[in-house]
Parts: sequence; structure tokens; C-alpha cells
Amino acid sequence: MKIIVGSRGSKLAVVQTNWLLEELRKANPEVDFELKIIKTKGDKIQHKALDKIGDKGIFTKELEDALLSGEIDMAVHSMKDMPSALPDGLTLSVPPMREDPRDVLLTPHKISAIQELPENAVIGTGSKRRIYQLKNIRKDFEVVGIRGNIDTRIRKMKEQGLDGIILAAAGLKRIGVYESGDYTCLPLDPCQFVSAPAQGILAVEIREDNETVKALMESVSNPVTKAQMTAERQFLISLNGSCHIPIGAYCNVEGEKLTLYGLFGNEDGTILYKGQTEGAMGEEAKMGDRLAKELKEMVEAKIKPGTVYLAGGGCGDKGLITVKAMEKLKTCDALVYDALVNEEFLKWTKPECEKIYVGKRAANHALPQDEINALLIRLGREGKNVVRLKGGDPYVFGRGGEEGEELYDAGVPFEVIPGITSVIGGLAYAGIPITHRDCVSSFQVVTGHLKSEESELDWPVLAKSKGTIVFLMGVKNLEKITGELMKNGMDKNTPAAVVHRASTPYQRVVEGTLETIYGIATEARITAPSLIVVGDVVTKREKLRFFDSKPLFGKNIVVTRSREQSSKMVAQIAELGGNAIEYPTIKIEPIPENVDALAENFGSLDRYSHIIFTSTNGVEIFFDALKASGRDTRALGSIHVTAIGSATAALLAEQGITADFVPKKYVGEELVDGLMPLLTETSRVLIPRSKNARIYVVEELRKVCPVDEYQIYETVREDNTDVDVAEMLKNKEIDYITFTSSTTVQYFVEKIGSENVDDTKNAKCVSIGPVTSDKMKELGLTVDVQAEVYTIAGMIEAILNMEK
Ligand code: SAH
Repeated sequence: MKIIVGSRGSKLAVVQTNWLLEELRKANPEVDFELKIIKTKGDKIQHKALDKIGDKGIFTKELEDALLSGEIDMAVHSMKDMPSALPDGLTLSVPPMREDPRDVLLTPHKISAIQELPENAVIGTGSKRRIYQLKNIRKDFEVVGIRGNIDTRIRKMKEQGLDGIILAAAGLKRIGVYESGDYTCLPLDPCQFVSAPAQGILAVEIREDNETVKALMESVSNPVTKAQMTAERQFLISLNGSCHIPIGAYCNVEGEKLTLYGLFGNEDGTILYKGQTEGAMGEEAKMGDRLAKELKEMVEAKIKPGTVYLAGGGCGDKGLITVKAMEKLKTCDALVYDALVNEEFLKWTKPECEKIYVGKRAANHALPQDEINALLIRLGREGKNVVRLKGGDPYVFGRGGEEGEELYDAGVPFEVIPGITSVIGGLAYAGIPITHRDCVSSFQVVTGHLKSEESELDWPVLAKSKGTIVFLMGVKNLEKITGELMKNGMDKNTPAAVVHRASTPYQRVVEGTLETIYGIATEARITAPSLIVVGDVVTKREKLRFFDSKPLFGKNIVVTRSREQSSKMVAQIAELGGNAIEYPTIKIEPIPENVDALAENFGSLDRYSHIIFTSTNGVEIFFDALKASGRDTRALGSIHVTAIGSATAALLAEQGITADFVPKKYVGEELVDGLMPLLTETSRVLIPRSKNARIYVVEELRKVCPVDEYQIYETVREDNTDVDVAEMLKNKEIDYITFTSSTTVQYFVEKIGSENVDDTKNAKCVSIGPVTSDKMKELGLTVDVQAEVYTIAGMIEAILNMEK
């Protein structure tokens, strides 16, 4: 029998997996265990700060995929990398024997206790849990952030002259540093200086139904470790822990007696509680849960409640939100939102903002109102600033009033940010003014959601009203509404309209009279959400419509450029009334080896006379790496800086650097011509750029002086998209597909699947220029139009011409 065991490729991961393999082989000599290395996202993007990348899971996902697909039978992780929830179908097996659970102070000083460190000692660690506990030992300790694997951290300690770093004993022991005697290693008592939950325990993830592997793991399992893991992990799970919050847990086992020590605080570390609870073998999970709840309550009681903003998101168009609501969205810790809200808004939030959808979508029922109330209160009490975002205005049939009252009763502060209601804004986008001097001097807004036969609406009064009447939530009852109004005396020739999804690319407006509108709307299959408007103002649409008369209105146009690059094109399409569907086919990915190689030069950049940044990506990756190495812009000294493209120059300016030379046009020839006169044979040029770039520039410059090229990123396929363009093409829901390079063509076809290429005939394919057109033809796409000028503006022009 052969069992394939997956592991990350880092030195420590391989050492610990090999240790487990040895244990397994000793206990099961008849089984053939094989190691398989799998690279995870976290391995690929090490030069970015971890908190920028987001939560856990980045070191586990690819291993989990391999496990689910059957490529491997077990995945070995460090427990600290494990998210608290595992994917369906996977579970953690019983753990093998725990390595040393303690944290260690590794220091160049010859001392025998941490208290003996010199005054104002500087200690390196990146973990909040360790920072706060260090400060508890001695207030004068200064803590600096430090990242990387063990070797990197030790190197940084030396380079930066630190007095010590805190590391996990398990890792140090596994790779042999602990015993080496090169440094003083002082272990810290885990009951005092609480370790990370399950520190030193290997997490072995397996398929839930794989009994064979389960049995193999039983053969190397250890009951004490198992009890500790259960207690400590339960503590973490019950706290719903993320890596932004300091959490520690250690379960001490003495015979049958268990003592669980826990540590929990708030995000900025101003509140931190330590607690302990006792129990007997078998009660581990209960203990973990109990201690977690206790500490959580203590922390929450200390936290000042956050403010809940009951905010309106406007009636559809993302520009129809207030500046105040936008500002709160950008800074809030949690966003609770409804179905009618523009999804764009979600992108404005901070990466760590918790986004909670509570509206109705398709077959899913909305969260009941009392649960929404409870949710808002809970989030507020956790000290979070919450935006409760609703379509239109929060008080116009939005139940904002009820939520405000509940918050008041619970003592959670709130504010209201009014929004542009569909009643007024939506009608305006349909070209219907809610009042007009010519015809009406009042308006009424009425719910069309009629609960029963004898609804509470006073039809005789409504029918006599002279002003505009707008019904919300009424399409389902359109026949009854128009019928009642006529029955009660309103003129059957009164103008009426129904406006579907006003101010969005899907806006549709049907017009008629009280008598005809039901038939017309039914014929046109108008559904919710729609406004029903009754009154003479409807006739004003003829001159006042401005939105659904734009040249590209209602056209669905697929943009295949990378997410980062598409914003300008998307904005131009929107300006013309079109609906840009972002379907990025390419993305930029750093090449870690080459970024690291580049970073080796950061200490001696003064060797270079010139540096050339060819793109914003290059600038971003370069400066991220520079910062990660502990340096800043000053490392560039007086190097002559060339930037290609105004966007690149602008990004450099954000770093405080004014480019010395920006070629007018971006073609290699222009760059070479401009730079050549400035170079001599003693010059030396650094080009951090894309792997996919033309060799021309480097070749030409090398004729004069040495050029160091670092290919720090490449263009790869973007697989992450939230729209199913293949399906939309089948349903004839797309009008245009735009291709801005041959790579976008290639990856587009790969993404929709070559078997679906024929469906592109249901749309018109637009090419930016001849090279792209050739690729399109090669892959079986029709070039319906090619831009005359090879730019984005040229493509838009081509689309407008086709619409004429
Ligand atoms: N608070 C919202 C209304 C919520 S009630 C506001 O101020 O606009 C939900 C109803 O609003 C829908 O059934 C529909 O009648 C109307 N509505 C909201 N947005 C709309 C839109 N963009 N187009 C048409 N009707 C809309």
C-alpha cells in the first residue's frame, strides 16, 4: 500500500513532515509512505506583509485541493497555519506526539533568564500575542516587527542588532538551531507566557471518509497531545479567532488533571485578559469553549461600543451615494447590506471589513428582521463601527426606524445617513420629475405590498388625489392597484408608468395609462423591483429622459483586461450608458525568486547609475520588496529614474520620487533613443520588469553599458472571476466582447472553454489592433470590428460606430 503525504516545501515543513513519515514508517513497516511537496499561495508571495494578504488559509488551500482531488492522502501543516474551519469533506486526524509547546527567547546575550536582558532591550516578533506578553514581563522592552522563516529572522536579528527574537521552540528544535549552542535559547513557561493554540503540534488533515489513513494516524497518536489539541483548538474556534487578534492557549496535563491557560484581547491590544480553567481528561472541548466564552465576555464588557450607521446607498447608480456614506464604508469594520445595494460598494471597504448579506436573493430567504437587529447590536457591542446599508433611503420603506429603536434600547449608538430614494432618484433617471409646476403640486408615496383583501389603503382618498402617486413594492399587485384607482373614480386616461431597476444598466420603463399599463407591463414581463407612478408627470419623460437614451445604454460589454487595468475602460463605457462586465482574463503575478534576487541588491543600489520602471506593477512590487527588507526610498539615492507611462510616473511620485525621464510614447525605440545619450560605458542600468517584456530595450542598452534585468513579475491567466461569461453568451446576454491584447484573447478562450467559442457569434467581438485580430482569427473568433486607432478610446469609437 502506498500513502502520499503532502507538505509545503519550506525547510521546516519538510523536516517536520519527514519526522512524521519516520514515525509512521516505524509503526507501519509494511506501508510505503511517500512525500509530495506542494507550493501554496503563501509560499509564492512571501515578500508581502502577511496582514496585507489576509487571513489564514494561504498556506493550506493548495494542499487541501490536492487532498480533495485524491492527489495526496494526507496533508501535513503547522497548526498555526490552519484556519479554524476546514473545507467540507476534510477533517483533522488525531495528532502525533507534540514537539516542545513553548516559546523561546533566542538572544546573542549570555544570560539565563529573560529578565536579565539589558534595559530597553529591543526584541523582534511579529505576533500580537507575543508583543503584549513581552510588555507584561517588562515595560521597557521595545518590540520591532520581524517576519520570515527561522533563518531569515536570525539573520535580521544580527543585521539589526536586536537583543533577541521570540520563536517557537518546536521549529528551532526541528531544524537543529536549539541545540547548536550558537545562541542562548531561553524557553518561556507556557503557563505564564501562553503559546499559540496547539503550538508544536502537527496538524494532519485527511479526507473524512478515509478510514485507512485514520487508522495509520492512530498508530502514531498520543493521548496527551490529543487532549491538548482538543482543548486549545476549541478555545480558538469558540473565539472565532483570526490572526489580527491576540490569542493564546496552552493546556497543561498532569495525570488526569487538565489546566487550560488562555489569552484573549482586542485588535489594538489595549485590552488583554488571561484566564485559566480546570477539568479532567475527556472534558477538553468543554473547557476550551468555557474559557473562550469567559474571556470573550470580559473583553467585550471593556470595549466601548461602536457606532452603527443606518445608511442609504442610493437607488442604483453607484454615484448616487452620499459622500458621508462613502466615507463610512471605507472605514467601517462591518458592513451589513441588502439586495438593492450596488455591489460595487463592497469593493470600497477595507480588506478586513466583515461583509454580511442579509437580503433576499433568488430562492434564499432574507434574514428575519429580529435577527438583523440582534446582529447589529452584537457587532456594535464588539466595538465595531458598522454600516447598515440599504437601497435608496433607510427610512423609506426600509425598516431603518425599527433598527434605530432597537439600537437605542440596547444602548448602542447609531446615526442615520439619508440616501437618494428610488421614489425621487429612480423616477428622475426614468425622465419623470416627481413634481412639475405644469401639472402637480404634491406627491404621495404608497406601499403596493398589500397584505390582504381588505388592505389598509384608503382607495377613495387616493383616487381623488391630484398629486403624483408612487407605489413601491407593487408590481405583483399592479392590476389591483390600477383597478381600485379607476373603480374609485380616477380617470382611466391618467398617465402611468412602471420603472424597473431605475438608474442601473438594466433600467426599463413602460408607459401607458391607468387603463392600459397593466397589460403593457405584463406584456413586457416587467418584474420587481419596480416603481409604479401615476400622474401627469409621466408625460414629461419625452423631453426629460437622459439616461436610457445614452448611445450605449443597455449594452453589455465584456472587458477582458486585468482587473487593475480595466477601470478606465469601464468608466468610459459607463459614461456612455453601457454596462461594462469585468471579466479579467489576465493578472500580474510576482516571481518570488526573482524578487528575492532583486532584493539582494537593495543594500548597494548606489552601484547603479540608472533605473527604469516600465510599469505600475514594477513600481508596486519593487517598493513592496524594498519596504519588506526594512529600507525605504532613500536606498535609491541619486539614481537617475526613468518611468514609462504617466501612470508609472504618478505611482513613483506617491513614493516621493519625481522621474527624471518619461518618454513621450511608450515604444521601446523612444525609450532607447531618449536614454542612450545619457549613458556612458561606466553607467550601470537596473530594470525590474515583466518576464513578458520585449528583449529589445535590454539588448540595445547593453551595447553601451551593463544592464541588470530582473524579471520580477509575469502575466498569467486570471481564474478568479465572479461572472459566467460562457453562460451569458449562450443566453445571448452579451453585446460586445473587447480584446486589448493577444494574451487576453488566448486566456479568454481558455476560460470560456474552446468548445464554447462558437457562442461568441452571439456577440460582437472588438479588437484593439492587427496583432490582436490575428490571434482572434487563429482561435476561431470573428473580428466584427477593429479599432482604427489602437487604443481604448479607439475601441470605444468603433463600438459607437457599430451602434449608429
Ligand atoms: N428604501 C428604498 C425602498 C425600499 S422598498 C428606497 O428608498 O428606494 C423596495 C422597493 O423600492 C422595491 O420593491 C421597488 O418598488 C423600489 N425600488 C428600490 N430601488 C429601485 C430601483 N432602482 N428601481 C425601481 N424600484 C426600486
